[in-house]
Amino acid sequence: MRPTLSKTTYMYGMQCHKRFYLNRFHKDLANPEEEQTQAIFQTGTDVGLLAQQLFPGGVNAQGEEEWHSETTVARTAELLKNHAIIYEAAFMFNEVLCAVDILVRKGNKYYAYEVKSTNSVKEQHIEDAALQYYIVSNALQTFTPGMFEGKVIPSLAEVAILHFNKEYVRIGDIEVGKLFKPSSVIEEVEAKQAYIPKNIADFKKLIYLKNIPDIEMGPQCNKPYACNFSNYCQSLLAVEEQEEIALDQTIIVNQESWTHFSQDFQYPLFFFDFETVMYAVPEFNFSRPYQQIPFQYSLHILFEPHAKLKHNSHLGNGMADPRPDLIEQMIRDLGSSGSIITWNMSFEKGVIAKLSIDFPEYEEELMAIHSRIVDLMHPFRPKQGVVYSEAFEGSYSIKKVLPVMAPELSYSDLNIQEGGTASFMYGQMAGLEPNEREQLREDLLAYCHLDTLAMVKIWERVEGVK
Ligand code: SF4
Repeated sequence: MRPTLSKTTYMYGMQCHKRFYLNRFHKDLANPEEEQTQAIFQTGTDVGLLAQQLFPGGVNAQGEEEWHSETTVARTAELLKNHAIIYEAAFMFNEVLCAVDILVRKGNKYYAYEVKSTNSVKEQHIEDAALQYYIVSNALQTFTPGMFEGKVIPSLAEVAILHFNKEYVRIGDIEVGKLFKPSSVIEEVEAKQAYIPKNIADFKKLIYLKNIPDIEMGPQCNKPYACNFSNYCQSLLAVEEQEEIALDQTIIVNQESWTHFSQDFQYPLFFFDFETVMYAVPEFNFSRPYQQIPFQYSLHILFEPHAKLKHNSHLGNGMADPRPDLIEQMIRDLGSSGSIITWNMSFEKGVIAKLSIDFPEYEEELMAIHSRIVDLMHPFRPKQGVVYSEAFEGSYSIKKVLPVMAPELSYSDLNIQEGGTASFMYGQMAGLEPNEREQLREDLLAYCHLDTLAMVKIWERVEGVK
């Protein structure tokens, strides 16, 4: 029997019936797949293979077929007879197919492990594991007891999420046993069993709909994952909703509050911004899964009011650990006095605090820098009421504030326009040809340069408005 649903399409149905339907009948309406999405999938695959090392000697139920299918299910059934450890073990029940990343038999019990490249168990992992439990435990009952050792059908005794241990610090080669941490979700999964048959029945009914379900965009479009039909759904929004309403660009500064906020700033003013990259599996010694690794900074320095602006920057080479050189230059560039102005200081402070832990030989200098950091974003928070414009639309993101405060500056002409792309591209740098690498360096430098120049212009504008 061919499967009607898979674990992936079941999860689409859990997110949004329209996504489920579009994925089944209108794949052509999906957003173009981005390189970043492919990289996330590739990370998932790589991490899955790494986790298999925790259970050596297993056999893979997936053969040449690209996706799990009835063939994988049949192959799994054969392997169950003689193998205690099976990777990608596929089962089908109630016309739903799922595969277990790692299935381990000990005596008359099976233990299922689902590998997730995250630092903890998420709600969607439990939904996903609940479906697996439903399919595997029911599918096992359809086998003949005689095919198993002991002539008894083993029960599924455990379902666990194998995620990263966020406390793991790489020193030398990756230690797989320390990198991963299993978290049992069997109790949560059992508690969800009652409603799974109904969900499956509901999703099967969707297949017979004649039209695309009429569902408006909402919080579900990004939860638990960004939906790949967002462009299509966006295009359906009524034209009048898309028309931009002219917002009042007036900037209001509460002068007393601004003076109170800025009076402690000391020249030279250092306008500072990091870019960071995260590696799921720690790439360098003294780093953890998904740790923010700073690879670049931009620094604009204003030595005194109305002085000429000076700019310094640092950018790693995409191959070696960028932190040691970055720390040394940063300590030189930032000196020992003057306020360090950031936008959303908790990020820069967090990165510097981690650097001081991982490179304790610089702890004193780094924590001195840490103590000089101030946050230019703070007065733009609506509840502070220090700097306000209707045109901020209630946001205090620099991408929203800058076009109002300094419309002459824009990210739109840059090849890299936001931090996520900068981070992703830096991760690709090592594999590029020399000329492409040079272009990327220029793009990264230009992007980060604008981040700190934006702060300077915002600062000047508020001071000028004052
Ligand atoms: S974009 Fe939102 S409304 Fe549209 S299919 Fe996806 S989740 Fe559903």
